[in-house]
Amino acid sequence: MAERVIPLADHRYAASLPRVPLDAAPPDGLLADQLGRELRDLRISVTDRCNFRCSYCMPKEVFDKQYSFLPHASLLSFEEITRAARLFVAHGVRKLRLTGGEPLLRKNLEVLIQMLSGVQTGEGKPLDLTLTTNGSLLARKARVLKEAGLQRVTVSLDALDDATFRRMNDVDFPVADVLTGIDEAQRAGLGPIKVNMVVKRGTNDHEILPMARHFRGTPLVLRFIEYMDVGATNGWRMDEVLPSAQVIARIHAEHALEPLEASSPGETAQRWRYRDGGGEIGVISSVTQAFCRDCNRARLSTEGKLFLCLFASQGHDLRSLLRGSYSDEQIAAAIGLIWRSRDDRYSELRAARGAEGGSGQRRVEMHYIGG
Ligand code: SAM
Repeated sequence: MAERVIPLADHRYAASLPRVPLDAAPPDGLLADQLGRELRDLRISVTDRCNFRCSYCMPKEVFDKQYSFLPHASLLSFEEITRAARLFVAHGVRKLRLTGGEPLLRKNLEVLIQMLSGVQTGEGKPLDLTLTTNGSLLARKARVLKEAGLQRVTVSLDALDDATFRRMNDVDFPVADVLTGIDEAQRAGLGPIKVNMVVKRGTNDHEILPMARHFRGTPLVLRFIEYMDVGATNGWRMDEVLPSAQVIARIHAEHALEPLEASSPGETAQRWRYRDGGGEIGVISSVTQAFCRDCNRARLSTEGKLFLCLFASQGHDLRSLLRGSYSDEQIAAAIGLIWRSRDDRYSELRAARGAEGGSGQRRVEMHYIGG
């Protein structure tokens, strides 16, 4: 029998049409899912394109010149994103994070930020409005983003050593330009700035201590992320994951650390501080210490599919509702039903299945769903 080839794009579009309940009560900000998890954090992917080709996220061999990214008409417009955000906020969301792809590649992003900065909670409070970026365009854009109403940024940076950094972004992008972007973001007042380093054993774990030394004693919070089995294209292997416990042990051997309390419920990072007052670091251990139990995040893909888990294989097609003749009340009711029905806990189940145990289902790519 001939082998059946399933193109990536087919999978990318997999989403069910949300059911619109007829008798739903209006949102009261108290939405909870099957495991009692509240909805507090919405990550919005504003583009599936990126100018980097990090092998753990968008490997060059797959995302090459032939790869067809989403056409512009598929993307949610700024008005659609803002409308959706307002409905999520009515359900209890307090934090909006723009991501991608590389969000700073989306044209006129500052206009969207300005629109989102006008969204308030039911009590009239502003939202926590933030953005995750690879930093490549930050030097140019930091000030205009701040003026538009962005509060802070998280910058991804996997190494300080220029050769290692260029190898990891796989487009020969110099580390100095990202560091300049971070400086500009600080100058523009986009803090507290977090710096995320994905640690891949054998690739950049030699950069853990140089990175820790560089950001120690600054107001920036460096966070080490375990290399995750997201998507289906990065060839993930457990032996390339360096457990966060080892990251902490390496740094602690040089500068004593002590654990800190979480600053908010559902926080992804475990926080640590240098005992001598040298500041704070964090670890995000989604492989070795899954935190599904506290997950309060939903993700809206570039084309308006709602995903409830980074490791989901199926989304909910909110764009059809946003572009259909549905009222805000109806769409809010559909969102409520989706969240209430949620019972996934992929990472905990992966841990229970053993080191290499995926769910057997193909997962969406992180650049599409939003990291
Ligand atoms: N382009 C932006 C950036 O670089 O921050 C935002 C999107 S990116 C997908 C968001 C974050 O996901 C980055 O910090 C990236 O390093 C992280 N990421 C991507 N693939 C990952 C993987 N397989 N494991 C862990 N983190 C990953």
